[in-house]
Amino acid sequence: MKFKKTMKTYCRKCKSHKEHKVSIAKSGGRNKTHPLSRGSRRRMRLRGLDRGSGNKGRISRGAVSSWKRTGAKLSKKADLKLTCNTCQSSQIKNMGRTKKMELV
Ligand SMILES: [Zn+2]
Repeated sequence: MKFKKTMKTYCRKCKSHKEHKVSIAKSGGRNKTHPLSRGSRRRMRLRGLDRGSGNKGRISRGAVSSWKRTGAKLSKKADLKLTCNTCQSSQIKNMGRTKKMELV
């Protein structure tokens, strides 16, 4: 899917339609989005379970392809980051699934 580099859309801070700069949003990764989820290293450390050296069989679980359906989906969810040209505040806009993202 092709996206334009600028887009006119509603800005929540300016409370009106303004010109926005469009860029492709990057996800923060699992440790950033779910820092205290069950089984995470940080949660284990806070609970005093991540002690000593090595993982003692708690973290390792084989190759990813052995327990996850890798390659099942051909497309990715497209998230755009819109930055307001007037007040510099940004918002994330979901554009649905697409195979390829391109800014023109
Ligand atoms: Zn604004």
